[in-house]
Amino acid sequence: MAERKVRVRFAPSPTGALHIGGVRTALYNYLFAKQHGGDLIFRIEDTDSNRFVPGAEEYIIESFKWLGIKFDEGVSFGGNYGPYRQSERRDIYKKYVQQLLDAGKAYIAFDTPEELNAKREEIKNFQYDASTRMMMRNSLAMPKEEVDKLIADGTQYVVRFKIEPGEEVHVDDLIRGDVKIMSDILDDKVLYKSADELPTYHLANIVDDHLMEVTHVIRGEEWLPSAPLHVLLYRAFGWADTMPRFAHLPLLLKPDGKGKLSKRDGDRLGFPVFPLEWHDPKTGEVSSGYRESGYLPEAVINFLALLGWNPGNDQEIMTMDEMVKLFDISKCSKAGAKFDYVKGTWFNHEYILHKTNEEIAALWAPVVAEHGVSESIERITEVVGMMKDRVNFVKELWDLCSFFFIAPETYDEKTIKKRWKEDSAETLTKLMAVLEPLDDFSISHQEEVVMKWIEDNGYKTGDVMNAWRLTLVGEGKGPHMFDISAFLGKEETLNRMRKAIEVLK
Ligand code: GLU
Repeated sequence: MAERKVRVRFAPSPTGALHIGGVRTALYNYLFAKQHGGDLIFRIEDTDSNRFVPGAEEYIIESFKWLGIKFDEGVSFGGNYGPYRQSERRDIYKKYVQQLLDAGKAYIAFDTPEELNAKREEIKNFQYDASTRMMMRNSLAMPKEEVDKLIADGTQYVVRFKIEPGEEVHVDDLIRGDVKIMSDILDDKVLYKSADELPTYHLANIVDDHLMEVTHVIRGEEWLPSAPLHVLLYRAFGWADTMPRFAHLPLLLKPDGKGKLSKRDGDRLGFPVFPLEWHDPKTGEVSSGYRESGYLPEAVINFLALLGWNPGNDQEIMTMDEMVKLFDISKCSKAGAKFDYVKGTWFNHEYILHKTNEEIAALWAPVVAEHGVSESIERITEVVGMMKDRVNFVKELWDLCSFFFIAPETYDEKTIKKRWKEDSAETLTKLMAVLEPLDDFSISHQEEVVMKWIEDNGYKTGDVMNAWRLTLVGEGKGPHMFDISAFLGKEETLNRMRKAIEVLK
């Protein structure tokens, strides 16, 4: 068989916000597609109209745009294999359901929900399969005339897959190896419902993967139980030769490692489980998102990439391009990956450091403006350069740095008690006289002059600096003193000192 071009797909159902686990699935598909020069398809699986949530599709598309995961084709991206929304492919599925019926690989069943319930009461561990199907109301057990009449009368029915018992089914999984089950444990799955003229997930998923020439199905572990059924469906259609390879990714586990990560864990421990803020249209509930919480998209991607895979050494910071090169689907772990959200904040910190001061300043400038401060982007960039190594999030910069732009109105009590000595007012008045005549107010020149003055007068450097800091900052925080005074400039520095001496003396 000729080598086929790698084609993978991310196929969410628009049932709400995209869970962070779904983001990782899409990311692994993206990395896999790119490293093989293949295509990534975005397909919407919306055949379950009961679970449809308005806005979910747009939300998912916006999430990937923010994260930098690019699709080659699909809903909103175009392509030659469309339509990519399953609700627009009804006629296609009908044709393939008919094909299975004609080949005797599927059958029509009329059992109502009440009848099915009655059977479940009657037979312990009832399963609709080879052992029970002849007791049920379906086209295998009923005379043809009766079946035809019911259909002609418009009676609702489903189409079920006829699973042959006694067969060993193998799923050749790129991560888990050969997964083997007996066909007996499977039930005759519903593939199609006449009520809404729509296929179920299983049929639509297989038909689309085939028609869209998907070569690899990379998806969450929760779909592993469906895989044997999918293998049987490929065979029933006669598509076994081009069946995609499967890879079922490890679960994302709670931060403490016990059980599956849920939205409640995020609420309880204070981290988002969605890429963007989500407004639930039904309940009105608002859930936090990584974007709105101040994460950089690169940090989220890097963090997620390492949940279930690593490059085999201790390299943690990787660009998307590096990940494309290094990613290896066969090296993904089978065991679940603990969702270490604290590590997520560490990644954000690292990415703030990696970005240029200009880039971070561009993100922070709106916050500065929101506080009514009008400063040039150059001045904002300068502050970022001094302070960005101290934050995990850009938004934390304001509390840490507002004193660069706004003179203190009050002075922190604790710092006064600790740092403002009997003679501080007098010493700082003298320091003002030292600074006043300086034409060169650069960091290095101030430092040279002030340190010499301290030495000549036998002052304690700490005492002078701490008191001086209090006058410029209003409390005990901030970077190196001369960085602050140089940034403020001579006039502002002297003004702040004068005012503080006045208030504190
Ligand atoms: N529609 C399924 C989902 O929501 C797709 C599963 C698959 O990738 O086969 O995840």
